[in-house]
Amino acid sequence: MADAYDVVVIGGGPAGYPCALRAAQNGLKVACVDEWKNRDDKPAFGGTCLNAGCIPSKALLESSELVYRAQHEFAAHGIKTDVSIDLATMQKRRATIVRNMTGGIASLFKSGNVTGIFGHGRLLSGRRIEVTAHDGSKSEVTARHVVLASGSIPTELKSLTFDHQSILDSWDGLELTAVPKTLCVIGAGVIGLELGSVWRRLGAQVVVLEALENFLAIADQQLANEAARHFKKQGLDIRLGARVSGASVASNGVTVSYSDKTGAQSVVAEKVIVAVGRRPFTANLFAADTGVALDERGFIKVDDHCHTDAEDIWAIGDCVRGPMLAHKGKEEGIAVADAIAGNYAHVNYDVIPSVIYTAPEIAWVGQTEEQLKAASIPYKSGVFPFAASGRARAMEAAVGFAKILAARDTDTILGVHIVGPMAGELIAEATLAMEFQASAEDLQRTIHAHPTLAEALHEAALAADKRAIDIMNR
Ligand code: FAD
Ligand code: AMP
Repeated sequence: MADAYDVVVIGGGPAGYPCALRAAQNGLKVACVDEWKNRDDKPAFGGTCLNAGCIPSKALLESSELVYRAQHEFAAHGIKTDVSIDLATMQKRRATIVRNMTGGIASLFKSGNVTGIFGHGRLLSGRRIEVTAHDGSKSEVTARHVVLASGSIPTELKSLTFDHQSILDSWDGLELTAVPKTLCVIGAGVIGLELGSVWRRLGAQVVVLEALENFLAIADQQLANEAARHFKKQGLDIRLGARVSGASVASNGVTVSYSDKTGAQSVVAEKVIVAVGRRPFTANLFAADTGVALDERGFIKVDDHCHTDAEDIWAIGDCVRGPMLAHKGKEEGIAVADAIAGNYAHVNYDVIPSVIYTAPEIAWVGQTEEQLKAASIPYKSGVFPFAASGRARAMEAAVGFAKILAARDTDTILGVHIVGPMAGELIAEATLAMEFQASAEDLQRTIHAHPTLAEALHEAALAADKRAIDIMNR
């Protein structure tokens, strides 16, 4: 007899594992099936995020930023150093963090009464799930509810297929064992900028090729322009309007061909990281007769509550519409687990923060100035530069600004955009404010500790009404 569960989650990434844990908290009998294997051939829960995405990239961003600060900022503090890099230790630290975090999920499953199963899960009709273990053996489980959380994989350019030696995906780009002298990153999105920053700080000459004419087109353009200025200063050679058309690999490196406004161009680099986006991963995930459908872009089709076209089959995270972010998947997972248990569940897709962990960090939530203009929404804007923040100056990090956009009539905060120190942490206050539909005045009347970086938000809110204290109001 096949094991019978209330809920089986296929995929144990940041969407799937919280879903499984919450379903178990709700008193349901739960299993989570995951097929991930790391490069040491060992299976691990945690998906892309913990094994090959958010966590290892942040580990390397932290290490490489310390290198950069030691080289460029310590002197200003009166600290003399002679800095050299031990990449093997840096990479070992990254791997240890990943191992500890993914091991943590296995422990959470044990203590939280979730049955963790390593192997490939395939949904069959009648909510049966065929599980193929890593040794090839097959078994079957059944569930009242199935949650598909199969995630995403890197998009490959037809003209530039990954060979994982010279032409790399983002995972390869995190596990390099030597700093390349020259690196070409294709795509100036979140992943391209983070990986480009890591290897630039560690000494590589980095060229970033971006097809779009606008830098960080998804972000508020005032934010994007400020960030671009700093990346340029750091030596990241970002070429916009550069459409990559092919590459040839030779002993002296990879020649990447691209075209821009002025015609055909090329760049030669020891390594190439292709970071042009990710696509939903649904290979061999469900049988045709299950009733689950894909949309025209290959995402699993779901309604506003993450329910698929098939009864009691749900889908969450990167394999469904919406931003490909770990925290978006997590909230969907929790909401689905609660909905299955008959509890209140809701994901507010209008208030999802985005963070790029470069230096300076870039973070935003809500609408950009360009979006408000396009929608003809009357707004007011308040900007506070970190140059006027005592804490930022004490940190030798007085770059960038915090910007608040609020409705001109109701004063409701519509968007917050921060480029500067710890922007990724500061955005949490703005997210909470927006979740509670706060007004700029609410932020103005909230006491912020002094001296803190968060005061920049307070002052930006005041600036929206031309009442800032620590900067000239214009
Ligand atoms: P995944 O994390 O991809 O997990 C899916 C899991 O399902 C995998 O373990 C996979 O092996 C398994 N699986 C798939 N099909 C099956 C099957 N049929 N049977 C069994 N198992 C299956 N996001 C952020 O929010 N912040 C960041 O800082 C950030 N940094 C990133 C950096 C990089 C370099 C990359 C690549 C991504 C980053 N992301 C970041 C994106 C983030 O990793 C994803 O949004 C997130 O992992 C999506 O979660 P998920 O659970 O939907 O899918
Ligand atoms: P993201 O969606 O944040 O992962 O970013 C991917 C980036 O890659 C986007 O800014 C795309 O415009 C860019 N991109 C996609 N295809 C190409 C290409 N062929 N050449 C250069 N950049 C590309």
